[in-house]
Amino acid sequence: MLNITIDGHGGSGKSTLARVIAERLNIKVLNTGLIYRAIACSYCEKGLGNPTAEVVDKFMEQININLVFIDDVQKVLIDGKDYSHKLRDEEISILSSQLSKFPSLRARVLDIERDFAYKNDCILEGRSIGSVTLPNADVKLFVTASVEERAKRRMQQFKEKNIDISYEKVLQDLKERDYNDEHRPIAPLIISPDSIIVDSTNMTLEETIEYCINKIKVKINSK
Ligand code: C5P
Repeated sequence: MLNITIDGHGGSGKSTLARVIAERLNIKVLNTGLIYRAIACSYCEKGLGNPTAEVVDKFMEQININLVFIDDVQKVLIDGKDYSHKLRDEEISILSSQLSKFPSLRARVLDIERDFAYKNDCILEGRSIGSVTLPNADVKLFVTASVEERAKRRMQQFKEKNIDISYEKVLQDLKERDYNDEHRPIAPLIISPDSIIVDSTNMTLEETIEYCINKIKVKINSK
């Protein structure tokens, strides 16, 4: 199978990049952040409060996670429930990043990610995908941009959805998520030494897509 990994910071544009590149290469894409987000929605709905290892372990034992594709759109059902409308809420962004440090949760998501990669030519997009999930992937990209630029892009998305939120809050949340992702003891967000680093701070989306596709083609052809 052809496996490409895209890791990177929150708000770096990974999801859009992964989706467009997968379309152009005619392969599948798995957005792994959406699995963490769906789990966080269920956790939040159950009102389980501040996450501790004990609470998260018990919660993980009780839930069913189902990855399905409807008309090529990825859905993550938790106990049969689709949380698509809530996945991108700011409170879910923060909660998913807090929950992602718990080993019982990461282990479940890891199984889903690997199962998908073993069965499909695909791009897996998220955190610690190139370093932990698929260390032998054919091509690894690490996408980033300055935190201020990422906050500006997030603000634009919120504006398009008529969501009223301040730039300062978005910037602060992104910094908090970067910190959580980079400092958790298991599978922290790191740049694998064999990744191609893509800094999109001064690139448009189209330029970033072209840059990545060229790098992917060169890497695949050199194998
Ligand atoms: O990529 P996205 O922002 O949707 O991910 C939400 C959160 O889920 C991240 O902040 C991160 O803490 C967690 N995550 C992770 N490992 C992944 C994907 C996401 O820890 N592979």
